[in-house]
Amino acid sequence: MTVSQAVIIGASHAGAQLAASLRQEKWDGDIVLIGNESAVPYHRPPLSKAYLAGRSTLEELEIRNLEFYAKQNIQLLDATVEAIDRSSGLLTLSNGETVAYDELALCLGSRARRLPTPGADLAGVFYLRTAADVELIREAATTASNAVIVGGGYIGLETASSLRALGLHVTVLEATERVLERVTAPEVSAFFHRIHQEAGVSIRTGALVEAITGENRVEEVVLAHGESIPADIVIVGIGVEPNTELAAAAGLVVDNGVVIDSHARTSDPHIVAAGDCTSHDYARYGRRIRLESVPSAGEQAKVAAATISGKSKEIAALPWFWSDQYDLKLQIAGLNTGYDEVILSGDPSRDRDFSCFYLRQGQLIAADCVNRPRDFMFSKKVITQRTPVERSDLIRVPAN
Ligand SMILES: Cc1cc2nc3c(=O)[nH]c(=O)nc-3n(C[C@H](O)[C@H](O)[C@H](O)COP(=O)(O)OP(=O)(O)OC[C@H]3O[C@@H](n4cnc5c(N)ncnc54)[C@H](O)[C@@H]3O)c2cc1C
Repeated sequence: MTVSQAVIIGASHAGAQLAASLRQEKWDGDIVLIGNESAVPYHRPPLSKAYLAGRSTLEELEIRNLEFYAKQNIQLLDATVEAIDRSSGLLTLSNGETVAYDELALCLGSRARRLPTPGADLAGVFYLRTAADVELIREAATTASNAVIVGGGYIGLETASSLRALGLHVTVLEATERVLERVTAPEVSAFFHRIHQEAGVSIRTGALVEAITGENRVEEVVLAHGESIPADIVIVGIGVEPNTELAAAAGLVVDNGVVIDSHARTSDPHIVAAGDCTSHDYARYGRRIRLESVPSAGEQAKVAAATISGKSKEIAALPWFWSDQYDLKLQIAGLNTGYDEVILSGDPSRDRDFSCFYLRQGQLIAADCVNRPRDFMFSKKVITQRTPVERSDLIRVPAN
């Protein structure tokens, strides 16, 4: 009897979960988990938080330890897949070898968007996506005193908080008029602006980077209006791009991510996909969305494993996210797109805990909760179940 082989490309949150879930779904064929980071799959979110600040080791970040993969008979293969031949069911690796698959899962993730600015390739300019990136940043930070962060999104702000913990002078450059503009209400942006300023971070909004200059390595970041900011290191956090080239070259449908249905199936019924590299039509939002979050990667991976195993699960969970900065835990339930009203519980201009509830036509659609886990849990439930809420339910004095 021949044994079927499930091959997963990409060994991070989605890939590691998919492999584990296949065994939970009683997949008894072989499982090969191919990754190209030369590391046991590890938690990525702590990279800009505890790992950058030197408060954890890579081993502590492992999603599951090596023993788990051995016990579950999951083969970890350190390689880059260069091509998928769907007609023969063969993958070509960068060393020229081939791997056969019966079922294939794409968990290709995303990569840091590059800064298209003169000087962005100078030594001392970093991106923050992998553990290897952080190791380089940490090493450079030991002799640096001025760090400039390009991008005032979550990764930029978390990085600012961690570099302050390492004792560096930190400047955050944000091109738009406020930090976190793409994802939060002005009140939440103002809160994080204040918190970072109080921690000694200099935040510059409306700051367009014109060039990065230096003799052999970065020395200054030049802004569009001509000002120069001294920099020993520059960290760029301006978003990510999904890794879709492999799928596109294999002829799969790609539209801001590898397109999957609610069972995580791609346009080829023998290929599933999960995580940052996918885009999916969310019935709740009535549109195709590509999420970049660990909970979403985990859910899609579980659904994909069920699909490979001949079961039927659907992607349905409410998107949620988190961010840690200083002593603050921000938890976000839902997507706030299209909100027409904001209700605040607590005073973000003064407090270190508050919630910002987003409503559309009186219905709660999302919430940003800072150090308010109960508000977060409450919001998640209400949004998921579409329960009507009174405004007074939201602004009650919290019992956290
Ligand atoms: C610094 C940082 C902080 C973050 N913080 C948070 C947070 O607080 N909360 C949250 O929810 N999310 C956070 N995220 C986002 C979260 O990490 C991602 O959503 C998650 O990692 C997605 O998992 P994934 O498995 O889909 O993709 P990835 O983690 O991107 O992994 C994809 C893997 O596939 C490999 N790969 C790609 N192509 C190939 C190939 N051809 N052959 C072999 N291997 C390949 C890649 O090298 C990579 O290892 C953060 C991300 C970063 C970078």
